[in-house]
Amino acid sequence: MLLENLTWEEARDLAKEDPVVIVPLGSTEQHGPHLPLKVDIASADYIARAVGERTNALVTPPLNFGFSELWHKYPGTISFTADTFKSALLDICNSLIRGGFKKIFLINGHNPNLIVMQTAAYEIIDMFEDEDISVAASTYIFMAADKCNAIGENFKDGTHANEMETSIMLHLFKDDVRWDKALEVGENYRLRKAISFDAGAMILNKWPDSATYNGVYGDPSIASPEKGELYLEALIEDISQFVYDFKDGKYDPIGKDGRPKDR
Ligand SMILES: [Zn+2]
Repeated sequence: MLLENLTWEEARDLAKEDPVVIVPLGSTEQHGPHLPLKVDIASADYIARAVGERTNALVTPPLNFGFSELWHKYPGTISFTADTFKSALLDICNSLIRGGFKKIFLINGHNPNLIVMQTAAYEIIDMFEDEDISVAASTYIFMAADKCNAIGENFKDGTHANEMETSIMLHLFKDDVRWDKALEVGENYRLRKAISFDAGAMILNKWPDSATYNGVYGDPSIASPEKGELYLEALIEDISQFVYDFKDGKYDPIGKDGRPKDR
């Protein structure tokens, strides 16, 4: 169900059924020479809508911009600062909660957003501590990790404009993929990183720019639409299961009696 198609009266009545509300998040940012700027939000929005259809969760319109400071030197990238992004998340959650909704699932296609999403979730729970609100915040690539790793190179070399994202785009928006450029990137492939987590510490020393770095992690030339379909199936299946479990409170760390749950 899409929130945008409801009337306010229907939204009011639906809130009483305590549905999970999915908010698609992502970015408008560079994805190498071969993919359009929409990858993160278009994929998150697609997955959110498919999961919403399968589980009867309510899906809000997507927020097309995120925390994309890492790629700010690449033309076309539109980045919120962390403060603006957090404010947008607080306003979205606050509006939903004022409308009577209690279970909010922020699903994200751009992993750096997650730092800010978690901060916003802390603040929301702080603001509404006595009102039985639950917030889930995740980047979708981590929600079906085992299945995705069995399909292809989900995590190898990072997940930006890589084989996985390129496969998903080939499946969803074939005409938007510049395949000749993907092959070119593949030919010149060597592992490059704009940010490092190699030693267990985040290391950032300079902003990457388009003169020195094509903005791709991994080798997109091994992508295929068939793999894209398999990735999406795995993600939609596991994330749908998560939505059922989230609605049931399966993962709530604190029980209804206010005490931490035993596992
Ligand atoms: Zn991406």
